Amino acid sequence: MEELLEQLIDECKIYTKDGELANYIPELTKADPNMLGVYMISSDGKQYSAGDCMHQFTIQSIAKTILLLQALLDKGIEEISSKVGVEATGKPFDAINVSGQKLASKNLNPMVNMGAILMCTLIDGDTYDEKFERVLALTRELAGNPDIQIDEDVYQSEKKYGSKNRALAYLLKSYGMLEDDVEEVLDCYFKSCSISVTCKDLANIGFVLANRGQMPGRKERVIPVKYTRYVNAILMTCGMYDGSGEFALRVGVPAKSGVGGGIMAAVPTKMGIGIYSPTLDEKGNSVAGIRLLERISNQLYLSIF
Ligand code: GLU
Repeated sequence: MEELLEQLIDECKIYTKDGELANYIPELTKADPNMLGVYMISSDGKQYSAGDCMHQFTIQSIAKTILLLQALLDKGIEEISSKVGVEATGKPFDAINVSGQKLASKNLNPMVNMGAILMCTLIDGDTYDEKFERVLALTRELAGNPDIQIDEDVYQSEKKYGSKNRALAYLLKSYGMLEDDVEEVLDCYFKSCSISVTCKDLANIGFVLANRGQMPGRKERVIPVKYTRYVNAILMTCGMYDGSGEFALRVGVPAKSGVGGGIMAAVPTKMGIGIYSPTLDEKGNSVAGIRLLERISNQLYLSIF
């Protein structure tokens, strides 16, 4: 299997040239544009990797998955569904998703910024520092890696250049959908996006989602099945921003991308996959990452369709 992964990485390296590094957060432009790595953990516990799979990068929008999971664990499906919808927005991640004149909960999606910012308010904790600590603890638990930290430079950069996210949060506040202090809420969101991970960490998180809440080599469920189902369904329809439809055709598994260049994929009952390659297409998805995942999916018959 590792030979196959090495070969696919060699074939896909060329596509790293077809994308651009995210530049709206200046710190992200410091990434090495040539990198490409993959880590896979199959449901029988076997692990395979190739390329730059242990390089650290920021989780970015893949944190939306963790924010949603933590909010579900804390508040349950009924309350979360009353605050955000599940329909694909078909819009970019930072879109101001207002249909007509009215901003309504059902038009928000937890995989798009406004919905994800709102998730921060629904996580238990007396302060936003406490809420973030719980998000970080859940990330560490799902990734099976107690050493995960935030990348302080990316966090500061996000905070400094976060005007669009501030606009989105203030819009939520103006509609009475967010009560708390915008800066505090955003601090939890920015820190969550700045969590530093490797492909291996993402593969572990994907594994838990793929295996109905179970961790590799452990029997107990860390996440109840009803929540993994909920999250996987949203990942399938909205996890790759407004590129989710094409991704469903080409790869065909629930996945979430981030502008740091990561992709986390959860192949139901089969495996978790983490991919890294930081150059992005115009929708914010890793170009070489998707190509690699497409080839892996074809070779191993992973598409659920
Ligand atoms: N920190 C990013 C933002 O909200 C995450 C975006 C992404 O990965 O799509 O601006």
